[in-house]
Amino acid sequence: MTGVGLGQAVFLDRDGVLNHPVIREGNVQSPRTLDELSIIQSSIEACNILSEAGLKLIGVTNQPDISRGKVSREFIETINDEITLQMGLDMLLYCPHDDSDDCHCRKPKSGMLLDGAKAFDIDLSASIMVGDRAKDIDAGLSAGCQTVFIDLGYDTPHPKGADYTAPDLRHAVPWILNTVNERKG
Ligand SMILES: [Mg+2]
Ligand SMILES: [Zn+2]
Repeated sequence: MTGVGLGQAVFLDRDGVLNHPVIREGNVQSPRTLDELSIIQSSIEACNILSEAGLKLIGVTNQPDISRGKVSREFIETINDEITLQMGLDMLLYCPHDDSDDCHCRKPKSGMLLDGAKAFDIDLSASIMVGDRAKDIDAGLSAGCQTVFIDLGYDTPHPKGADYTAPDLRHAVPWILNTVNERKG
């Protein structure tokens, strides 16, 4: 049952969920120029449906390239603004840190989800985290959310404990709507 007066959200990882990852020398990475930003068109449709269902859409993305000196904050914010606009997100939070910074926000830590929930009075136990990495699923689980793993076929171990798996965000929409309705109580 949802806490009285609290809303529900879908927390969305960015790279691999909203925009296509960039493959560099065989590694899956983030766009480092605006030209490399390729929006996933079916995710726009998915976001429209979820938003119309009354869910807050909150992006939560690790961007350690900032801490590593490979991109500027200004660049990340430019890309984030474009994605926010195209997807109709309510908020897009990013973590600029690397592991050595020991921050509260870098996934698998749940800091960005907690901050987003606070901003919109969200019931985390009635909300969903969607991501293409084990770190996303672990962040969602540690925040008490239901979790959706977007399986892009990476050569990395599958996350443990995901509640649902889909090939992209659009295909996860029916499960998400069903789950948030059930948990609304
Ligand atoms: Mg990702
Ligand atoms: Zn951080």
